[in-house]
Amino acid sequence: MSAENNRSGDLLLHVCCGPCAEYPLTVLLEQEYRITAYFYNPNIHPQFEEERRRKYAAAVMKARNIPLLVDREDLISQWENKTWCGKYPSRCEMCYSIRLNRAAMKAAERSLSSFTTTLLVSPYQNREAICRIGDESGQRYGVRFLDFDFRPGFRKGQEMAKEDGLYRQKYCGCIDSLSESKFRDKIYASFEGSEGETQTVL
Ligand code: SF4
Repeated sequence: MSAENNRSGDLLLHVCCGPCAEYPLTVLLEQEYRITAYFYNPNIHPQFEEERRRKYAAAVMKARNIPLLVDREDLISQWENKTWCGKYPSRCEMCYSIRLNRAAMKAAERSLSSFTTTLLVSPYQNREAICRIGDESGQRYGVRFLDFDFRPGFRKGQEMAKEDGLYRQKYCGCIDSLSESKFRDKIYASFEGSEGETQTVL
């Protein structure tokens, strides 16, 4: 559903990480949505990276008094076994499907009428696939997927994250995106000794 036709109301916001939440929250709070945030990213590798992104996402929500649901379901082993092969056109569509389907289910469980995702802020994600899969997931559970285009605020959101002292990752999240990253060696080096590290932010 077009976000333009649905201003304000109860909304579940699927959150991929703190930095990507910054700008969407600005837009949604301006439009007076009553937000419940939902952190669910079950294929982030390695495990402490998931913890790190979750903790910084929690800090962003805490600073704005937004309730946060945390879902620790871990699909790493299925992901590494490539159980998605053949069922989806690409690994990213599989990844969007897993996250948005469960976000729609959680919205329905809590009687929230609509949902959206911070993935829509990133110019590096496939917006068309996210919106299609979001619509399908919403229809499955009787909640509306709102197709905000947060991308014009991507740079602003990154600046906000920098000012707030948030950790800003250099890869999307799954093991495949890590091994494909041009920053791979730097990222692996940054993991050394950083397990359990999260500084106080905000
Ligand atoms: S690159 Fe990102 S969106 Fe694609 S499968 Fe990996 S984590 Fe998911």
